[in-house]
Amino acid sequence: MSSVIDRFLRYVVIDTQSNEESQTTPSTDKQLNLAWLLEQELKELGLQNVRIQEGNVYGTLPANSAKTIPAIGFIAHMDTSPDFSGEHVKPQRIENYDGKDILLNPEQNLVLSPADFPELLDYIGKTLITTDGTTLLGADDKAGIAEIMAALEYLTKHPEIEHGKVCVAFTPDEEVGRGADQFDVAGFGADFAYTVDGGALGELEYENFNAAKAIVKVKGRNVHPGTAKNKMINAILLANDYIAKLPPQETPATTEGYEGFYHLHDIQGDVEETTLYYIIRDFYEDSFAKRKETMLNVAEELNQKNGLGLFTVEITDQYQNMKEKIQPVIHIVEKAQAAMEAVGVKPLINPIRGGTDGARLSFMGLPTPNLFTGGHNYHGRYEFIPTFAMEKSVEVILKIIELYAEDRS
Ligand SMILES: [Zn+2]
Repeated sequence: MSSVIDRFLRYVVIDTQSNEESQTTPSTDKQLNLAWLLEQELKELGLQNVRIQEGNVYGTLPANSAKTIPAIGFIAHMDTSPDFSGEHVKPQRIENYDGKDILLNPEQNLVLSPADFPELLDYIGKTLITTDGTTLLGADDKAGIAEIMAALEYLTKHPEIEHGKVCVAFTPDEEVGRGADQFDVAGFGADFAYTVDGGALGELEYENFNAAKAIVKVKGRNVHPGTAKNKMINAILLANDYIAKLPPQETPATTEGYEGFYHLHDIQGDVEETTLYYIIRDFYEDSFAKRKETMLNVAEELNQKNGLGLFTVEITDQYQNMKEKIQPVIHIVEKAQAAMEAVGVKPLINPIRGGTDGARLSFMGLPTPNLFTGGHNYHGRYEFIPTFAMEKSVEVILKIIELYAEDRS
């Protein structure tokens, strides 16, 4: 078995589910079980400055060349999603996949079917690793960890390959949005980095949404319905007016690609007071600003019509599109593209309709696009990963390192 698959199978059986409710770092102690193992393995590989800090595992492979080569970072996260159990993961190997339904669990009759997931048909004849239907797999992001570790192992076994400084980090709590909170960019020591946390073979991402949340509060006035004429102000009905004024074609269910949206994800209220909870998402700075303006303007318009002060809107920025931080160093994307092509992987560059830790890190001074791991159907029982895609990921990581070393003299 190749090193990357062997590592992957060892890492996924360690339960590292993170927890949104927890205020500690890491959010769950069990993530440290994997952190300690990785710390040990990095030391065994002979990396330097191996340490665990605030739940983050760091290590450095020093340059073996006198050339001036940029220090490249590779980052993956250790936790798995709170959305689905990561306890007692029992990975199953499907050799030489025949394109038919895969019975994940005979007792519960759980089936992974190309009728539901047609991308399975891209992997006929390949080896897949699936769950047993009762847990997630944790390829998100233990595949990324295994791929980075396997690349490091290869470099330490092949000292004849010339390379610059390679910095690696394994972070906790990515799935609860706190993966970059305690990241030590200065101590990490890389000029730029890649998260290895994407999906299918070839994915390469360096653009993500600009994001804000908006809370719209609507004040009403409750009066006995029998004597309410010209007195009652029903906050629920006013809230409906607000909802109706936002463009109905700009919601998550009606947009894709580079299109932005307003997403109403929760309503709470009664006649007296109703609150609307929105998120705003947009790739472009100017239209992102316009969306925020629109939300304020609609409130203003309805205040003019219904009485001043009934509508208030509170907008809070959440994260930004990393593109502006990547563009000045676009060679890191181009190099990743070139590396993929060199090992026979077609790069698939798509915008991320969400955020990543890489986006946060990019704004913390470490430009960090995202590379594929090879996995599919993250955060649930149908998660699977083709083994050859993991091997390709290792090749891509090594090729990026090699291309940067070749570049300089
Ligand atoms: Zn992930």
